[in-house]
Amino acid sequence: MNSGSLSFATRRDAAILIVDDAPDNLGTLRKLMVEQGYQTFVANSGERALKIARRVHPDLILLDIMMPGMDGYETCRQLKSHASTQRIPVIFMSARTGTDDVVAGFDLGAVDYIGKPLRLPEVCARVRTQLQIRSRSETHEEQAERLRTIVNNMAEGLLIIEADGRIQFTNPACDKYLGYQHDQLAGRNIADLLNPLVAQEYLDYFGRYAAAPQSAHNHGTREVIIRHRNGSSVCMDLTLTPMYLRQPLFIGLLHDITHHKQSEDALQRAAMVDPLTKIANRRHFDTFLEKEWQRAMRSGQPLSLVVLDVDHFKLYNDTLGHPAGDVCLQQVAQAIASHAHRPTDLAARYGGEEFVLLFAETDAGKAVHLAEAIRGHIEALQIPHPRSTTSAWLTVSIGVATIHPHQLDNTESLFVAADRALYVAKEGGRNQVQSTRTASASLDTVKALVMR
Ligand code: GH3
Ligand code: MG
Ligand code: MG
Repeated sequence: MNSGSLSFATRRDAAILIVDDAPDNLGTLRKLMVEQGYQTFVANSGERALKIARRVHPDLILLDIMMPGMDGYETCRQLKSHASTQRIPVIFMSARTGTDDVVAGFDLGAVDYIGKPLRLPEVCARVRTQLQIRSRSETHEEQAERLRTIVNNMAEGLLIIEADGRIQFTNPACDKYLGYQHDQLAGRNIADLLNPLVAQEYLDYFGRYAAAPQSAHNHGTREVIIRHRNGSSVCMDLTLTPMYLRQPLFIGLLHDITHHKQSEDALQRAAMVDPLTKIANRRHFDTFLEKEWQRAMRSGQPLSLVVLDVDHFKLYNDTLGHPAGDVCLQQVAQAIASHAHRPTDLAARYGGEEFVLLFAETDAGKAVHLAEAIRGHIEALQIPHPRSTTSAWLTVSIGVATIHPHQLDNTESLFVAADRALYVAKEGGRNQVQSTRTASASLDTVKALVMR
């Protein structure tokens, strides 16, 4: 890194340990190093050198080989065998410049070997070079360490993927999101994690990038469903960034949006439910009806709509209070909903004290039968209605309409027909079921009604 050598060029406070048994050499080298601006330590034996090195951790050691007692080779061996000193670069200095001596020095882990008698400018140049290398490698190590810490602790999952889809690396967050142990994902293919179509799309993109890195677009972020190790599916945002390092690679960043999705789903569900009665609301019913309508048009099966309205409900509220009216609506709603058994049946609160039920693949006869059961059910709840002129209990009036949907019809015509039947039920004395069979033949009448 430039910053490493740059900072070093202006920073001359590196610490040097000089080891030599000859006082003259020691004196000369010390003077030289001090002149260069280095902090300088000296030792006249291997033993002292080890002690000083362990205490001051010099950035570099200039080490004489031939010394009484522990020689330079042994000193170096001991430096290299001790964790706190093994990474300090050692430069040997010796009058023995035979190939075997030099090679032995490098084999012991020295970074350089200077022949004696010393040429002082050369010593300076070699020391400077080694300090620069050390500074650079420290910078690299620091950067790598910083990056490792980030990658291991970030909340996002990170994957490095090769052009053939092989996963080269995953970070702990990625392993955790997908339920794997450390290193279990490396070597697998992204096709093991994604649905085949999505995986193929990614592989195609990888292939295009590998063939022409300059012209490929960034893939950006997209929502993907990823297979968890336990077989479940997790919903994630995957951001993909290509990178060319000797080979094309792809950095994937995974952001868990399952929770986000769950609250989104909860919101969506809430938007479909009536808050008072907890059964479907009008919006959900309309959507549902539209779908069933289309299906009935294809299958040619009949579709029945049941419309229910509580009798004298205004009086009920006026007599017993609005809160009691609310509880009553909840009871009625539950009773009605208990008659929607099949996945294609749906009960909804359509507004105020009016409810609807859709029965797909149900003809008029069956629908009237179901409606009658519901009417009886509500009467049997025996909810007291002191001022009703119809009954002692709360009752409902019901209109039923059945249709074989046709291209020319619409759902509104079905509603008009059911409402008409409901009107007849109210007029006929309430607490009863009436029906209108809306065959295509009588559609004109219905259309006329809709137009009005
Ligand atoms: P009919 O037999 O002809 O249907 O008479 P009704 O009194 O039931 O009909 P009307 O449409 O005159 O009154 C409906 C009443 O329903 C009036 C309104 O206050 C009440 N209502 C509508 N929504 C709610 C609700 O959410 N809670 C309560 N407690 N009452 C409601
Ligand atoms: Mg009403
Ligand atoms: Mg009413």
